Amino acid sequence: SNVDRTLVDDLTGGPSYAQRRALAKIITLLESTRLDHRHRADDVLNTLLPKTGNSFRLGISGVPGVGKSTLIETLGLYLIEQGHRVAVLAIDPSSSLSGGSILGDKTRMERLSVLDNAFIRPSPSSGTLGGVAEKTREAMLVAEAAGFDVIIVETVGVGQSEIAVAGMTDLFLLLQLPNAGDDLQAIKKGVMELADLIVINKADIDMDAAMRAQLFISSSLRLLGFQGNPDHASHDQAFWHPTVMTMSALQGQGIPELWEKICHFQTIQQANGQLQSRRQQQSGAWMWDRIDAGLKNAFRNHPEVQKLLPSFIAQVNQGTMASSVAARRLLEAMGHEFF
Ligand code: GDP
Repeated sequence: SNVDRTLVDDLTGGPSYAQRRALAKIITLLESTRLDHRHRADDVLNTLLPKTGNSFRLGISGVPGVGKSTLIETLGLYLIEQGHRVAVLAIDPSSSLSGGSILGDKTRMERLSVLDNAFIRPSPSSGTLGGVAEKTREAMLVAEAAGFDVIIVETVGVGQSEIAVAGMTDLFLLLQLPNAGDDLQAIKKGVMELADLIVINKADIDMDAAMRAQLFISSSLRLLGFQGNPDHASHDQAFWHPTVMTMSALQGQGIPELWEKICHFQTIQQANGQLQSRRQQQSGAWMWDRIDAGLKNAFRNHPEVQKLLPSFIAQVNQGTMASSVAARRLLEAMGHEFF
């Protein structure tokens, strides 16, 4: 439609205020639960696709209070000073559950949010097809089409949303507190597997503790085998090995070093092809994720399934029908053979 064409034109070629406005409007369109909006959003997204992909996608996670918004604001201000344009998107698993927000979007990053070259979007509630990150991945593409060249996707330390963020970014950064070294629980194997970079924040409070944590986590990574890909010699400079550093987001200590590390990561991943193959793998996985969600949705909304479901659940609960038999019969109620 003409409305959407104007939105796309503003987004890709307008002055920066018009770009930011178009970006916000398109994301709202993506988040709509109306089917006609969804079809318009699909067309817009496909039109924009050739203009996407030219950013660095940085995922950041950590428990509430570790300093995520402080880091993002300080890093964001630093990057904008260097001429970058920074978009910050959030995935807050709590917002879809309770309507409340662990990330507390309103008052955060006040200095960053007023800048022309920054765009901050709070966490969307999950859409019709579920999944905490359903809309964020699309919003990221739209921000890229608007010329934002650093996209930061933030989440809290909860399994599902961390996996989602690691699955849509080039580098997954895990923020840790200095006491992490004393606490084996903090070294969750699953999250360490996802992390490309681990940053011990609040080093200003206790530098010794921060350095102990750095040592402890480094050696844990080695033990777990994440430092040094077994396929390559561990000193192989052509491959990235997860790294641990310390910083103080509040005092801005370690910000240039952090960005330098990130750029180094980018150079390595570009040269050895990992950047491209990771993105390809992510796009494919995303498609299948959406297909799974769509099928599940179609199943739950199918009138025949809805009719049969209560009695099948009752029979499974009573032990008069095998779960697998119930599942197959319900699936076949959709009118397809399932084998
Ligand atoms: P988030 O919940 O992970 O986004 O954490 P915030 O960025 O909101 O930070 C939580 C609290 O820790 C705030 O009071 C910050 O000022 C403080 N904080 C963040 N980074 C640092 C740091 O490097 N040093 C110190 N001393 N405090 C910090």
